[in-house]
Amino acid sequence: MIRFLFLFLGLSAFASFAGAQTPAPRPAVIDMHVHGANTTPQQARERMAALNVRYLFVQVLAPELPAWNAALGGDNFQPSLGFPCPGGRAPFVDRPCWEGTSDLPDPAWVREELRSGRIKAFGELVPQLFGMAPGDERLEPYWQLAEEFDIPVAIHMGPGPPGAAYGSGASPAKFPDFRMGAGNPLLLEDLLLRHKRLRLLVMHAGWPYSESMIALLYAHPNVYVDVGALQAGFMVPRASYYAYLRSLVDAGFAKRIVFGSDFPNQVEPGIDAIVSAEFLSDAQKSDILCGNATRFLRLDGSTCTQ
Ligand SMILES: [Zn+2]
Repeated sequence: MIRFLFLFLGLSAFASFAGAQTPAPRPAVIDMHVHGANTTPQQARERMAALNVRYLFVQVLAPELPAWNAALGGDNFQPSLGFPCPGGRAPFVDRPCWEGTSDLPDPAWVREELRSGRIKAFGELVPQLFGMAPGDERLEPYWQLAEEFDIPVAIHMGPGPPGAAYGSGASPAKFPDFRMGAGNPLLLEDLLLRHKRLRLLVMHAGWPYSESMIALLYAHPNVYVDVGALQAGFMVPRASYYAYLRSLVDAGFAKRIVFGSDFPNQVEPGIDAIVSAEFLSDAQKSDILCGNATRFLRLDGSTCTQ
């Protein structure tokens, strides 16, 4: 018995020594939920190198796009236009989304940005923050443009800052018209039927509407979801995040879930939350962290494997 104990201790010491020598390689990741409003392109590039992040889907404020192109190069990220922006200023930060003070971008300007290839996606669309349903007719010109130019669109459906509509809420960002009901994923169904070529990413996976989310995924094969902000803990406790993620996986949609961080300090814990989810197989983990996003964005599959 004593000899067995020594053998065991010796083996564990060897294992931890070997572990320190050769840390497990970090999994390949595509981060589908990055905001230029809360990180600099240099910081994003450093995180990519440190955490094996291969590609970013970035909501870039249009005046800041040249800096992102200079830092990351055109092959490493997808520049995306987010709106509405009240008075032309980005929510959460007071920086311009585009020239001028309109809440929504001028469709003629958007068309030129898409035609030139400077902007390659829409998102994060945030009508819910302003109590606007995704089917609101003011958004219709942009759905049409997305379909015409065959670009992916990412829309916020789910939790906002806790208590966002109330002056007493904890978040410094206030959205007095925020409506949880405007985040119900099934509100997307009419516009999906009007625009059947849309590739649509439901950001925050429509939490907590798992039944509606599963119904939408079931009926509309061009819909994907991301897990942005759900892992953060301050909006959704870890147990609820895992239960929600598992409900989507159990319903058969592990190939339609992509990784997103939303906040710079959530990239590493968000990746680790997927890696340590015991209900996911190794294949499902690598699909969610990287492979599924290559399909949604039509990137070369080697983005995740090389
Ligand atoms: Zn969001």
